[in-house]
Amino acid sequence: MRTRFAPSPTGHLHIGGARTAIFAWLQAKANNGKFLIRFEDTDKERSEKEYVDSIINSLKWLGIEPDEKPIFQSDQISKHREIALDLLKQGLAYSCNVSPERLEEVRKIQQQNKQQPRYDGFSRDLNLPHEKGNVIRFKMPLDGVTTFEDQVLKTISINNKELDDFIILRSDGTPTYNFCAAIDDLEMQITNVIRGDDHITNTLKQINILKALNSELPEYAHLPMVLSSSGKRLSKREGAVDIQEYKKMGYLKEAMVNYLIKLGWSYKEQELFSVDELIKYFDIKDVNSSAAKFSQELLDFYNNHYLKKFKLEGLYKYIDENFLLSEKFINNDKKTEIIDLLREGSNNISELVDELTFFYEDPYLTDEIINAIQIDKNLLALFKEELKEVNFKDKLLIGVFIDSFLSKNKLKFPLLGKPLRLILTGKTNAPSISDLLYLIGKENCINRIDNYLNS
Ligand code: GLU
Repeated sequence: MRTRFAPSPTGHLHIGGARTAIFAWLQAKANNGKFLIRFEDTDKERSEKEYVDSIINSLKWLGIEPDEKPIFQSDQISKHREIALDLLKQGLAYSCNVSPERLEEVRKIQQQNKQQPRYDGFSRDLNLPHEKGNVIRFKMPLDGVTTFEDQVLKTISINNKELDDFIILRSDGTPTYNFCAAIDDLEMQITNVIRGDDHITNTLKQINILKALNSELPEYAHLPMVLSSSGKRLSKREGAVDIQEYKKMGYLKEAMVNYLIKLGWSYKEQELFSVDELIKYFDIKDVNSSAAKFSQELLDFYNNHYLKKFKLEGLYKYIDENFLLSEKFINNDKKTEIIDLLREGSNNISELVDELTFFYEDPYLTDEIINAIQIDKNLLALFKEELKEVNFKDKLLIGVFIDSFLSKNKLKFPLLGKPLRLILTGKTNAPSISDLLYLIGKENCINRIDNYLNS
């Protein structure tokens, strides 16, 4: 089995493309096959080297590497041209010199008659010599149907009357997209073409090219679109961003891979898969034939799962290498414990890093926060004095002290907990009080309480 991913390097890799790549890669790996990459870069205006590198880096991050050197479609043009001329020689294609004016006239008439606009085959039987300025058109079968069994969408067919004799070589000698793609799949000996369902019409054309070349057809699997959570096209807010942005936000590759495969594929009731399991269970035939929907919540759920599952030392190292941590934090001897606590409630590492500050820096208490702090200052002063005597080496002892302070003073927890959390962190949403006291440390906690008492 040989599968391929064939991106056009006209932009970064987004969610939809990444999913196609993973499915093609898994299908190859699940069958001991090879996974290849072909850059469809014939649109010189829009193709950029920067995007080639970016796509390769994104795939690499996800753990996907091609088994052979990537192919560039633009390097194959002389081959495409040679085959087009060969088809012409064999009478399977023909030279055409119909002027744009005539094409436009025919199109208008067809539209008036409510027909699908298409080339009417004017030059098909004229046997024109192939002169400079002519195009070469492919001779589509005039009747019958073109049909194939899609591995995801099942039977797809079209009446050949609806396919026109499309151009394979333009008047400037450059080959057209569908022709190039069919030839490249053949040359690369691709056995399984996996791509988005926006390519179905292209597939019907490409099948006819391959048949004219007496080539065996690959298996086709067309993947339904990935839509936004509201069922529209993916937007910048949802999925239509460079995959590397997710890395920058602190999504882990394990979460990303798990999330991407769930966009259309499932296996029993299982939610989380290691790569080995995916390779064991994946079959493109099990991909759902209806559109998948992007869900930020599900991506966050997977990421939170992997953040918690990662070995703490490894996670710290990853964060240190990929995110900007303050010196003060790096020098904090409780840094890994702090990360361990924060990863519980974080969807991604950026979120986690944003929460780190109050562990090593006194929070700035805005007027709004000061107004929200409601506590009897005498009680707080008493709490502070008793806190000075608590053994901070053990978090449990801090918890015991808080409980006894509350019961001694006949207080319900929120009366102390809420204001104390604001004083220590400047935030309403923060970890438990004993975790905070323990991880911020005795001296800092006492200072922060003093600052508030003196404000
Ligand atoms: N270059 C096409 C795209 O980026 C993919 C074509 C294919 O997979 O055959 O949509």
